Amino acid sequence: MGEHVHVRLSQGLSVSEDGELIEHAACRCGATFTKVFDTNGGEPEPQS
Ligand SMILES: [Zn+2]
Repeated sequence: MGEHVHVRLSQGLSVSEDGELIEHAACRCGATFTKVFDTNGGEPEPQS
């Protein structure tokens, strides 16, 4: 069996402790992927 191009089937979304949106995806071959969306850009959080 040769290599193939993974197909990322969306498995859902979750939010990390840091408030980042994480998309979970998996290929039919069993490979899994995560993609992190940094959501901090749109919401200024003043920290001192
Ligand atoms: Zn695959």
